[in-house]
Amino acid sequence: MLTVGNDEAEVERRLSEGRLECPVCAAPLRGWGHGRVRVIRLAGGTGWRARPRRAICAGCGTTHVLLPAGMLARRADSAAVIGAALAGAAAGLGHRTLAARLGRAASTVRGWLRRLASRAEPLRSAFTALACALDADPLLPGPGLLT
Ligand SMILES: [Zn+2]
Repeated sequence: MLTVGNDEAEVERRLSEGRLECPVCAAPLRGWGHGRVRVIRLAGGTGWRARPRRAICAGCGTTHVLLPAGMLARRADSAAVIGAALAGAAAGLGHRTLAARLGRAASTVRGWLRRLASRAEPLRSAFTALACALDADPLLPGPGLLT
């Protein structure tokens, strides 16, 4: 699976222009039908019915489902709903409180929090490396601040 933008027309344009790369070998992807229909639960209980695009790699032949950015792999709830739960937990709220606020089962929210906790160290490491790649010393003022 590959996460792409939410704009279907833009995804189609990038596919047709060969501007989406295979995450395995970096060769261009081309359209390859669609994935199965998914109904993603949004905040407030409404559903988002989506049929993600599929693509095949011109290099290695691997197929990929192109997930819109608001959809997470193997999750029935939107990224915004799960993100709200994670933000609430970071603010000190428990899984039962978050579940009540989001209208989800406590066991579902507890599962999201446990999954994040189990992946926290690799995520911290990856985002620290990304932050260092963007700015080696973010505490020093940039050239624009010295003038
Ligand atoms: Zn490939």
